[in-house]
Amino acid sequence: MTNLSIITTVRHNIGDDFVREGILSIIGDVAKFDQVELIHKHSPVTTAYGYEGLRRLRISRVVEPVLRVLGTKDRVADADLLIQSGAPVYWCHPGGPHCADNEWFDPLIRKRFLKDRRSRKLLSIAGGSCQRYHSDGSEVTNCPKCKAYIAEFFDACDLTLLRDSLAQRMLQLSGRDAMVLPCTSIFARDHFKITPTKGGYIVVNFMESGGHYTFGQNIDADKWRKNFGEIVDKLQPHGRVVAACHTVAEETLAKQIVPDVETYIVPDEHVAFMNFYAGARFAVVNRVHAGFMMASFGKPVAVIGNDSRALMIKNLNLTPHYVEDVTSASIDQMIAALLSREHSYPDEIEAIRTASRRAYVEALSKVLLN
Ligand SMILES: [Zn+2]
Repeated sequence: MTNLSIITTVRHNIGDDFVREGILSIIGDVAKFDQVELIHKHSPVTTAYGYEGLRRLRISRVVEPVLRVLGTKDRVADADLLIQSGAPVYWCHPGGPHCADNEWFDPLIRKRFLKDRRSRKLLSIAGGSCQRYHSDGSEVTNCPKCKAYIAEFFDACDLTLLRDSLAQRMLQLSGRDAMVLPCTSIFARDHFKITPTKGGYIVVNFMESGGHYTFGQNIDADKWRKNFGEIVDKLQPHGRVVAACHTVAEETLAKQIVPDVETYIVPDEHVAFMNFYAGARFAVVNRVHAGFMMASFGKPVAVIGNDSRALMIKNLNLTPHYVEDVTSASIDQMIAALLSREHSYPDEIEAIRTASRRAYVEALSKVLLN
């Protein structure tokens, strides 16, 4: 096997970078590749060599089918192994959006990979759900197209490994099943050989309403802003507090709420963020993958979220919180819990990382070494 192509995002979301680097770390234990190519899933035309700069879906929708007809050389055709990396893969909301309508499966998998499958393998690794925080996954039972899509995607893959149990429930409701393992972002540090240093600061992170979307949930955005200010106030007596901002917009917001808060931002530089998280103590964050990266270095985190992605932190023995439920009292409890685990969590995460790596390598070996 020589060529690996990965369906991911490129310079778009460092969380996706963390997940992909983690996959590269574990797959390195099973197989070696001469070349690794990335396809920016939000613009499927980036599968074609020379078209990486076309990042608008509207343009991709026009150009990609033309290139397919012309037979332009591309990363799906060249892949000996194709991996869909991380991200929400199952979402279904009454009135939309629906995962069945996603932008990449039809052009990349149906129209390219499956039409020219040969004996090549397709893996879906560390995908998850993106539902309302309290969803039980039953939305898919009332949505024939998502149910059919989830089954079709599963059947196209030689291996599916999921990162949260709600995703597993949605898959089961679609008539299939797969194993849940902690998100591969916890192995990204191994890929770069980054080791934790003694923590120098406490990390916070703020997103409006606690997440990317609200999905019609009744979330009081002002209340979460006030609570964020209170979290920073209550953390300051315990040490230096730094707001990690994954985007410029997050930095602007954090400074609006707490004008004197110290911020850290290097947009799209995921390795810089990894080094930053490696030097922290503990965190209270909205960004789930800020949480995963911190935890992978043995730094305990509280993830406050508004959708089911936040729940995957449970796989690391850490606690998610629904943004709307945060109160003064729960902030105190959250901080006390983090302080109490600051020195014990490194051993806990190492046990989780070791067991999970073994499980990933075993599952990948079964599929790739046959
Ligand atoms: Zn649906």
